[in-house]
Amino acid sequence: SFEPLASDFYGYYDLLTDREREALGELRAWLEADVKPIIGGYWERAEFPMQVVKPLADLGVLSYAWEETAPFENSTLFRGFVALELARVDASVSTFVGVQNGLATGSLAVGGSKEQREEWIPKLASGEILGAFGLTEPLSGSDSAKGLRTTARREGDEWVLNGQKRWIGNATFSDITIIWAKDEGDGQVKGFIVPTSTPGYSATKIEGKISLRPVQNADITLTDVRVPESLRLQNANSFRDTAAVLRATRAEVAWAAVGTSVGAYEAALDYAKQRVQFGKPIASHQLIQEHLVNSLGNITASLGMVVRASQLQDAGRLGDEHSALAKAYATARMRETVAWAREACGGNGIVLDHHVARFFADAEALYSYEGTREMNTLIVGRAITGEAAFV
Ligand code: FAD
Repeated sequence: SFEPLASDFYGYYDLLTDREREALGELRAWLEADVKPIIGGYWERAEFPMQVVKPLADLGVLSYAWEETAPFENSTLFRGFVALELARVDASVSTFVGVQNGLATGSLAVGGSKEQREEWIPKLASGEILGAFGLTEPLSGSDSAKGLRTTARREGDEWVLNGQKRWIGNATFSDITIIWAKDEGDGQVKGFIVPTSTPGYSATKIEGKISLRPVQNADITLTDVRVPESLRLQNANSFRDTAAVLRATRAEVAWAAVGTSVGAYEAALDYAKQRVQFGKPIASHQLIQEHLVNSLGNITASLGMVVRASQLQDAGRLGDEHSALAKAYATARMRETVAWAREACGGNGIVLDHHVARFFADAEALYSYEGTREMNTLIVGRAITGEAAFV
């Protein structure tokens, strides 16, 4: 059974089909029962709860987007609500899905040949193998379109990869990592499916994170890593194709930002109804109500934007500037919302037991990954002025 969230103030769930709503109900029930109670401990220990992978696959979360595996016909809008539901309970689990599904499988879907899609997508969608997406490098983050230093050299039927990657999510346990590298021949960025057991490939966990602690981010070193031509993404011929993967995943991060905001807002609202100060629940104090209402305003405005972005994607009309505006706007509103939620919980807002602290800390990574607020702002700036401020 499916209950709309009270934070869906203007009834956006009405836009989904009954089958889609039913699937969201199943996902939410599992998240509430099996993820919410345990995730704080994993966050504290900076471990990823590997036991979530199978249920995520069984529920269809890793299959919905791909024609090879979708269990029923579904929309981008529905998959946005899936990202919202995941992040509403935990942004690390939603990030795991974003990497496995949006980035790794998405690279296969956008850049793979028919044969590559048929070979790899079902394995990733079933969770049989885990994937990662290696674009960012120690010396190249925001400027990855031009600044990539990892190289790919063609030698007969093989490619030889050399370089370093940084921040790569899921990469301490992935079976394959999509590595983006510059072809020494034509200077274009190309994508390679690199099995992580290949000699010369190594991944080391980045320690000491204060955000998304369960997500296993890694530094990767590639030293004369040899892959056959059959593992080069056959339809990814320049950074334009990498950007096509990111266009869709950025919009999904905007959905996750709404989910994170919803999770923090709901936790703060519950807390405010129970916590009594000056002889009455703090929810009855005007300044607390203002925080809650402003949060609901942020959520509702951001939802309007991401709903429309998903509809544009379904219609084949989503531009880089649309997903960039949604990501920049929704993550900025999320940052305000989680701060108000933390404030409303007082001291309890900084301990994991009340969930708000986790949302507060995790918001920082969502704000910066898949294009920082500044870079997404400049992508929109380029679209509206015709002037690129970042080349
Ligand atoms: P920089 O590019 O060094 O930017 C630093 C600051 O300068 C930012 O505020 C930025 O906005 C600003 N800045 C840069 N250029 C300009 C400009 N022209 N004008 C104005 N301001 C500017 N990458 C992957 O490839 N795969 C992953 O799975 C992955 N997962 C991640 C998970 C986490 C938790 C994090 C934190 C990052 C992840 N990333 C991943 C990398 C992420 O995409 C980058 O961190 C992000 O793109 C920013 O790059 P950077 O950190 O190098 O910052």
